[in-house]
Amino acid sequence: MSYSQLNDIIKSSKNILVISHINPDGDTLGSICAMSEIIRNNFKKECELLCVSKIPKTYEFLPNISKIKTLESFDKSREFDLVITVDVAAPDRMGDAKILFDKAKSTTNIDHHKTNKGFANLNIIDPDASSCGEVLADIFKGLDWKINLETATCLYTAILTDTGSFRYDNTTEKALKSAADMIAIGVKPSEIYKKIYESSSKNHVLFQAYCISKTEFCENDKVAYTTVFKKDIEKFNAPEDCTEGLTEKLRAIVTTEIAFVVRQLNANMSKVSMRSKSKDVAEICEVFGGGGHKLAAGCVVKCSVEDTIKKILEEIKKREI
Ligand code: AMP
Ligand code: MN
Ligand code: MN
Repeated sequence: MSYSQLNDIIKSSKNILVISHINPDGDTLGSICAMSEIIRNNFKKECELLCVSKIPKTYEFLPNISKIKTLESFDKSREFDLVITVDVAAPDRMGDAKILFDKAKSTTNIDHHKTNKGFANLNIIDPDASSCGEVLADIFKGLDWKINLETATCLYTAILTDTGSFRYDNTTEKALKSAADMIAIGVKPSEIYKKIYESSSKNHVLFQAYCISKTEFCENDKVAYTTVFKKDIEKFNAPEDCTEGLTEKLRAIVTTEIAFVVRQLNANMSKVSMRSKSKDVAEICEVFGGGGHKLAAGCVVKCSVEDTIKKILEEIKKREI
């Protein structure tokens, strides 16, 4: 059973690094912070945490979040006994932290993306789980590791954010039971809800309103998309995670089947966030080397924003919508 293999490998590893994915969300951050707490409490050892992107202010309340280092403050020549990735669908989602993953004596990949191909020595992937946080809750319970309030706060945050506050179709009985377990430990849902969903800056909300106001529609309004340019982010002084939740707002329109947001990374590189009501958008994103879940996926395209839109629309039009 892979759970006990995880127990053994953590026990025998002196130095451990946990890596989250680039442009982190509540699931990968809740998961990395939960791993830090559980390893400290159950194995009496400190692990190290790494994320290549800036941590959104929204998640500053998570226990252990200040332990997360960026690659700039990390000695890249180091070699770890064990590197664990959480919520990382594919190796390139680690960004340049992959250098440390590739050198590790042993690697573990804990995830829930259906497109995850199992790139580590030990792979614990549950595509039926709502979130990586739910996978971790199963592991911790399965191994009888004590979940304290700090760990529960992290896992609840992971499940809450990846289910879109318990609204998406990954809101299963098991996901809710896992979240309820965390509430039984002492997590206060309304406090976490306020920290995540009612703590946006004025600039952030006004920026999203601007992006929504220039939404384009096609295919009888079944496709809705908008763009996010660097100059606009600067103009509004919007935060790094300014696009978080934006695609969902376009999907909220009754006629929308597929919604996407194209964000300019640089002149020839764009990030696509795609959502749908029933069509498989992970499959569309995989065409561009990305992936994710059936109804929520993403990819990075080596093109300008305009060319990326053209290519994505071409792929969408090849399918029945
Ligand atoms: P996002 O649109 O960035 O919120 O991502 C939606 C979902 O797709 C999340 O579960 C991501 O982890 C996943 N995803 C986003 N970009 C990629 C990518 N390039 N490769 C694989 N999965 C991705
Ligand atoms: Mn994620
Ligand atoms: Mn996730």
